[in-house]
Amino acid sequence: MISKKDIRALTKDELRDFFVDNGDKAFRGNQVYEWLWSKSAHSFEDMTNVSKETRKMLEDNFVINHIEVDDMQRSSDGTVKNAVRLHDGLVVESVLIPTGSRTTACVSSQVGCSLDCLFCATARLKKMRNLNPDEIYDQVAAINQESLLYFNRKLSNIVYMGMGEPLMNYKNVLLSIEKITSPEGLGMSPKRITVSTSGVPKMIRKLADDEVKFNLAVSLHSAIDEIRSRIMPFSKAFPLKDLKESLEYWYSKTESRVTYEYVVWNGINDDKESIMALVKFCKYIPCKVNLIEYNPIDDGEFQQARPQAIDDYISILEMNDIIVNVRRSRGKDIDAACGQLANKKS
Ligand code: SAH
Repeated sequence: MISKKDIRALTKDELRDFFVDNGDKAFRGNQVYEWLWSKSAHSFEDMTNVSKETRKMLEDNFVINHIEVDDMQRSSDGTVKNAVRLHDGLVVESVLIPTGSRTTACVSSQVGCSLDCLFCATARLKKMRNLNPDEIYDQVAAINQESLLYFNRKLSNIVYMGMGEPLMNYKNVLLSIEKITSPEGLGMSPKRITVSTSGVPKMIRKLADDEVKFNLAVSLHSAIDEIRSRIMPFSKAFPLKDLKESLEYWYSKTESRVTYEYVVWNGINDDKESIMALVKFCKYIPCKVNLIEYNPIDDGEFQQARPQAIDDYISILEMNDIIVNVRRSRGKDIDAACGQLANKKS
């Protein structure tokens, strides 16, 4: 048997061409596209404004692959974690984070991760495969539904900070954002989307060349090569000098401020030298720093720094006119916080 193609792998133009090639109007392609994306139809049967014959023709040619939210856990702070089953049985996680009047979706871009950050639980899963654009889009659409259901409001922000390294799945991540921002998708503004990378200079330059309109966050964690390459071993291949140059290039093309994510650990980067190196790094382009609380993943060498060390970071950064926010961790009780996504059920 010939396996049928996933209809959602087609672009809107390809879908329009399909209808023209089959003796129908191109416009039918727009109708079906809207069902597939904005209305999240799970079957051709759902497409009620499309004739029975057309639905049958689609059925004969295509399948609709869709994610299933297999399991949902709710944290005492309102955070919701979805375990998402993909069409081939693999599982990723995504998180709904309610804050004030906002709802943020944190989505995965790979099953496992290509990288090897020592402090991150996802890194231990190894990368199994990249997610397709529709698999990323569906995580967002599912969280939008949950936000409407639980909080009576639409999703307001999206962060690509779940499992995986988004820039190692570049094409599909950008295609997913195209669908999320398109009027036939969720019609969200790219300014409400942040892609986080552990810092792959070549791909940051590519983002700049592609003149993307979404925000960029970089997981910095140390502005000293020796420390950074020890705790994020992959970064040996990408010295801070290369990262800095790629960020300067990003800013020259986009004029968009970068966010640096930074965890302060005991005995690793809680000293004055580390703070001063970060201050220097922050002077290169307009930026802000998010100090993230550490979420322990085992009893190993990584421990959240003393409050005094965090205060030192804040006061020295502020003294140097650098914007700094402290990000409390959310959903810790259900292993939904940064770096805890590892397909483990609490
Ligand atoms: N690979 C991308 C996307 C993942 S974002 C990236 O690295 O940016 C997840 C964020 O959580 C990153 O900033 C990561 O460095 C951080 N993180 C990883 N493990 C963590 C942990 N145990 N506690 C707090 N933050 C962690």
